[in-house]
Amino acid sequence: MRKADIQTGATVDFQAVGRSFGKLDVLKDFSLAIAAGEFLTLLGPSGSGKTTALNMIAGFLQPTSGDILIDGKSIASLPPERRNVGMVFQNYSLFPHMNVFDNVAFPLKMRRASAQLIKEKVEKALELVHLADYAARMPTQISGGQRQRVAFARAIVFAPRVLLMDEPLGALDLKLREHMQLEIKRYRDEIGCTMIYVTHDQGEALTLSDRIVVMNNGRIVQIGGPEEIYDRPANRFSAEFIGENN
Ligand code: ADP
Repeated sequence: MRKADIQTGATVDFQAVGRSFGKLDVLKDFSLAIAAGEFLTLLGPSGSGKTTALNMIAGFLQPTSGDILIDGKSIASLPPERRNVGMVFQNYSLFPHMNVFDNVAFPLKMRRASAQLIKEKVEKALELVHLADYAARMPTQISGGQRQRVAFARAIVFAPRVLLMDEPLGALDLKLREHMQLEIKRYRDEIGCTMIYVTHDQGEALTLSDRIVVMNNGRIVQIGGPEEIYDRPANRFSAEFIGENN
């Protein structure tokens, strides 16, 4: 995929965002400015509110308080279909009855793109994930790692300005996960949109990110580049959490 085909990334600004479910405050006074084109990772243990933050950018959830701006525009004025956000989830499975080409084409068909444009864009997206020869295969005829690459192709085929990734490698075994980390690094160099990644895997966050936001219990514990987070944890939680499994 050529850079010229891709729009540049959008900024994403969380402004004192709160989100509760009943009495449970899941995000508390969450403020974070994400730069255009940045690779930012939300890192924290299960239940710290990472997915909730992503779901609000995507439009699956509304903030209970505060606001989120995408390129300076409040999400209150941006319906999900106008946010230009791509998503890859751990369990965001492919449509089993469609071949690889049709799976990747799906977001473009939803946007009523012409057959010619669809062909062009899908071929480029499949080239990016090195699956150009797999267009006619059904999801059951490719491996788990290849399926996740198809999911990436589907998420970026419409040139989103923000790509959300929620534990996208969580279902893969260790060897494949390491390989896919290298793939994601390559996508980030070639695509150039803003990328927001969610994981509880410290090594993955340190490998991929421009900046890491360490979260615990709905709050930001520390923000910094990988080296800073690793070498100078700001507090006991960061030190213990980053130290685990490393
Ligand atoms: P993480 O992604 O860091 O694991 P989540 O954002 O998924 O955290 O969840 C944070 C907390 O919010 C958890 O305690 C979870 O049970 C709760 N939660 C998330 N979604 C809902 C929901 N729709 N209804 C009730 N509680 C929820």
